[in-house]
Amino acid sequence: MRLLLIGPPGAGKGTQAEILSRILGVPHISTGDLFRDQVGRRTPLGREAARFLDAGELVPDRVTTDMVRHRLGEPDAERGFLLDGYPRTVPQAQALSSVLAAGGTTLDAVLELTAPEDVLVDRLLARGRPDDTEDLVRHRRRIHHRRTVPVLGHYAGLVRTVEAVGTVEDITARILTALGLPESVSTR
Ligand code: ADP
Repeated sequence: MRLLLIGPPGAGKGTQAEILSRILGVPHISTGDLFRDQVGRRTPLGREAARFLDAGELVPDRVTTDMVRHRLGEPDAERGFLLDGYPRTVPQAQALSSVLAAGGTTLDAVLELTAPEDVLVDRLLARGRPDDTEDLVRHRRRIHHRRTVPVLGHYAGLVRTVEAVGTVEDITARILTALGLPESVSTR
């Protein structure tokens, strides 16, 4: 299964992606995690990305797409993947279409997670990552609306929208239903 997860900061994409990756048996690929790993290891890519992460800005499309193309070329992504946090701009979505077309594959679904603003802000402030300060969260939310919401238009027929409010288990169940998967797969 080839899935995208799209949602504003705090929607719980990472939490649900971890669970879904176990259920579906495909790798969870988070561009945010990949960047934070590069930053932590002080690689050249990490040093370049750090400026953007610290400012709550998007890392430039070309850098991000090169990283994703490389990751999707790893053997574990051959049978499917759960892409969390990419594409975040329309040019990234176009680039992903080319990457997939080159490999002769297509996406199965695009999962959109939504939640009211107060829930999102509370979750982020509780998480407390360095880029979760009030100012940076506001900025990242603005970028999400301006640059990422238009990405959904690129995937018109594939989008399944799920309200990400409630317990983690409830939300997972709702996602499985939205994807047309029996809920029992989660207890296997
Ligand atoms: P959140 O969804 O809470 O914003 P992520 O871990 O997905 O957190 O992303 C953290 C940061 O990583 C972003 O603010 C951005 O700087 C960078 N990033 C992640 N994915 C992308 C992407 N597809 N394009 C550009 N920058 C990205």
